[in-house]
Amino acid sequence: MRIGIPKESREHELRVAASPDTIKRYKGLGLDCVVEEGAGTGAALADEAFTKAGASLADAAGAWDAEIVLKVQRPGEDEMGRLRQGQVLVGMLDPYMSREQVAAYASAGVTAFSLELLPRTTRAQAMDVLSSQANLAGYKAMVDAMAAYSRVLPMMMTAAGTVTPAKVFVIGAGVAGLQAIATAKRMGAVVTATDVRPAAREEIESLGGKFVGFIPEGAATAGGYARPLTPEEQAEQARLVAEHLKGQDIVVTTAQIPGRKAPRIVTAQMVASMKAGSVVLDMAAESGGNVEGSEPGAERMEGGVRIIGARNLPARLAPASSVLYARNLQNFVALLVSKEGALAIDMDDDLVKGAMLTHEGRIVHPNFADQA
Ligand code: NAD
Repeated sequence: MRIGIPKESREHELRVAASPDTIKRYKGLGLDCVVEEGAGTGAALADEAFTKAGASLADAAGAWDAEIVLKVQRPGEDEMGRLRQGQVLVGMLDPYMSREQVAAYASAGVTAFSLELLPRTTRAQAMDVLSSQANLAGYKAMVDAMAAYSRVLPMMMTAAGTVTPAKVFVIGAGVAGLQAIATAKRMGAVVTATDVRPAAREEIESLGGKFVGFIPEGAATAGGYARPLTPEEQAEQARLVAEHLKGQDIVVTTAQIPGRKAPRIVTAQMVASMKAGSVVLDMAAESGGNVEGSEPGAERMEGGVRIIGARNLPARLAPASSVLYARNLQNFVALLVSKEGALAIDMDDDLVKGAMLTHEGRIVHPNFADQA
């Protein structure tokens, strides 16, 4: 059986869905690997690194001509025509934002797995692409925000006087937010953070951050994610955030609700109350934005405050993020393959079922049943 790894075609996507390490592991499972020439260039992985690990090289058509195709992002329009009946497609297919494409996988007869849909259970940890990528994104967001800040992060006591430490505020303390907090702490900033899930308070404090805000009743869903706030809760949060923002130097926002537009938390009025020279980085800019007026991939000044809209942060660390992503994928693909190296999809496995969007011409994931 053959695994194909095409070069990612979407703009700003530098990651690749396999690494030399995972090629060796696929070989160990009895699978042949075909990598598109240049697929790893953006992740600092030369073609030779893949061939040395046992893969063969091909053009795009050759890489797509495989029983299992591994992708980072969902296929582009031009790639949809390459899909074929019975093929398995695995990646971060972003199904909530591309519902029509989910229907197209079904009509093409493709078995599509979107790893963002995996349940966040202990067994799924080794395949948890959301965590591996968000962890790096949270780090990069804080590094970018610090780089854009024109004062210094740690306290410095010098003969010429004392420089006070920067005050950093992180909104949303999931995987990305916690890594942002840890990164700012390492640099010596004074860090505060907020979230709406009860577990977040302790996690923030365990990293040396101070919790600010309030935890609404029942704000965490059974899946461990946050639910949207009611208008009253939003107003309460807005009051607390508005008060706290005034004194902050760097604000990094990471709040997300799966399958929905990101909650708007920082308004233009709040930004206007901040000190000149402050930096606001919106990690949720691509999913609607936590910060009013932020644009993915764009930066602007508003009353002396720099507002940065993040865009595909994991791709900006492609050598690191690809290696982790590739390993997540390999752990998942291992569930789909028999000892003899043949395709063996176990419909009773909760992880296989949890990530499966389409199978045998039908949409099978309950969250997309209305598309069927
Ligand atoms: P996410 O990307 O969906 O959201 C980021 C953060 O934003 C979350 O912490 C969320 O609570 C927060 N948020 C949403 N609305 C908010 C608002 N209005 N104000 C402030 N904060 C808001 O989350 P994630 O990083 O993917 O983590 C989701 C959950 O999954 C967490 O509970 C995390 O601990 C859990 N998790 C579990 C495992 C596991 O193996 N069991 C692994 C990773 C993550």
